[in-house]
Amino acid sequence: MSTYKKIVLASRPKGHVSPDNFRLEEAPVPAINDGQILVRNHYLSLDPYMRMRMEDVKSYAAPQEIGAVMVGGTVGEVVESKNPKYAVGDKVVGMMGWAEMGVSDGVGLRRVKDGPIPMSAYLGSVGMPGMTAWYGLTQIMQPKAGETIVVSAASGAVGSVVGQLARERGCRAVGIAGGPEKCAYVVNELGFDACVDYKAGNLQADLKAATPDGVDAIFENVGGEIFDACVARMNPFGRIALCGLIAGYDGEPMVLNNLRTFLTMRLSMRGFIVSEHPEFWPQGLQELGELVASGKLKFRESVADGLAAAPEAFIGLLKGKNFGKQLVKLS
Ligand code: NDP
Repeated sequence: MSTYKKIVLASRPKGHVSPDNFRLEEAPVPAINDGQILVRNHYLSLDPYMRMRMEDVKSYAAPQEIGAVMVGGTVGEVVESKNPKYAVGDKVVGMMGWAEMGVSDGVGLRRVKDGPIPMSAYLGSVGMPGMTAWYGLTQIMQPKAGETIVVSAASGAVGSVVGQLARERGCRAVGIAGGPEKCAYVVNELGFDACVDYKAGNLQADLKAATPDGVDAIFENVGGEIFDACVARMNPFGRIALCGLIAGYDGEPMVLNNLRTFLTMRLSMRGFIVSEHPEFWPQGLQELGELVASGKLKFRESVADGLAAAPEAFIGLLKGKNFGKQLVKLS
């Protein structure tokens, strides 16, 4: 009997997430019923939100159940079909979780074509992370040409797209990233105007030098000291897209120290969850797909090899060990 591998949540983290929180299991390849398809996943996407789902707390989504396959985005190929809308060989993006295979009735799947866009990019710049960047930038930050925007975790899946889209719209794009290698990449490869290395020890002074005209809009991915430093540079009526607070996911929640600037600079901030705005996805994915296909939108990937490597890669993502979109190659 042929089998496939999957990873389930074994226990909830106490403090930092650890490999013991996950369990690798093997199961028989399921038989499919009428209306269903069987998909072999080629890539699994590892994303920061998974850390929040591991906890049993009130949030925008229900917590991950103990013993259930870890939630996760995948891109793969239909290997068996009893659904007239899908043929064997079709490539599909979906949420099949941390698993080599999955069964679906087609609901919530997106069919993608072979072409100039690599399959893996549908989990990155032309997928959920890219849409996150697109939504936060166009719908919340609404920057005008000539304005300065700042984005944290700038070399990552979301941040890298934010800065490039902002440059396309005529803005000054300033990134914040950890270490000289990531910062050099953000400026030299992605084309940001500047990038501040928050690990260099001069965050406030370096950010001031990189934003001589102040900051008109922030795309916040990290929280904590980085966010406070950005808020301190804001111009009157600045806009903040609160996308993520990764520095607080795997430890103590983040505090905001710089509330006074919200008053004195009359700032507005809006949190958002990209999956709640499906009406924008066709428009956003169209723009992102064209930019990636033409080579104008650049991206980078960190690819772990094989499902068993997923827990370690995920733990690394929460510590900034990834350089670009974190994926797991499954087959
Ligand atoms: P990335 O590819 O950017 O990877 C995470 C990066 O975060 C790391 O590479 C690291 O970059 C940085 N990081 C990790 N830990 C810390 C820390 N303790 N302090 C400071 N920086 C840290 O991930 P994504 O682009 O996928 O996600 C970026 C953010 O966007 C996350 O906060 C995520 O939750 C959020 N998000 C929100 C969505 C929404 O709908 N609201 C949807 C998708 C993502 P460095 O080495 O530069 O520090």
